[in-house]
Amino acid sequence: MRLLVVEDDKDINRQLVSALEQAGYAVDSALDGEQGWFLGDTEPYDAVVLDIGLPKKDGLSVLEEWRSAGRTMPVLILTARDRWSDKVQGFDAGADDYVAKPFHMEEVLARLRALLRRATGHSTNELTCGSVRLDTKSGRVVVAGQAVKLTSHEYRLLAYLMHHMGRIVSRTELVEHIYDQDFDRDSNTVEVFIGRLRKKLGVDIIETVRGLGYRLDPDAAP
Ligand code: CA
Repeated sequence: MRLLVVEDDKDINRQLVSALEQAGYAVDSALDGEQGWFLGDTEPYDAVVLDIGLPKKDGLSVLEEWRSAGRTMPVLILTARDRWSDKVQGFDAGADDYVAKPFHMEEVLARLRALLRRATGHSTNELTCGSVRLDTKSGRVVVAGQAVKLTSHEYRLLAYLMHHMGRIVSRTELVEHIYDQDFDRDSNTVEVFIGRLRKKLGVDIIETVRGLGYRLDPDAAP
């Protein structure tokens, strides 16, 4: 899954990016409202963390413009603790959730997991496909009770496919959701990752749909 962080405080921005990367997400970041708006308008993020008080374009305007242009990704806003009006205005502008500053990183991570779950139609952190279980909270992948160690790209790839189980996911879509903006993207590497993932998992839950992409079968035998 790929996330966007829009926050003008450099320290908070860096802390968010590093915590989210550590949690297994591809992350892009912006330090002002204009750049943030542009990224959210042009890249397909799975969720966004958006500060309200931003230079160049405030967070509420950014959010309103995304929503009126039909951008539906889940948005978690960061508000000042004593500004209840930020929360009300934020929800009315199209926010899905909020966290008040100063925040605990664990809370941001938990709220993002919940938003990503809801957006993809899952109700728990644990996603299961056949004998493969992926826990989005711990980042652990287990096959038939045995832990499997994955690289960050392999994990992102599997997590994206598992969130979208049952649906055909094209190679282009995978590229857009597992790499951050600065990564030298090459859709051929997706094929390589899929091959490694199949080998590491030891069970073939990833179906290749010729000419279209890949699909995980939610009814795969356990
Ligand atoms: Ca700010």
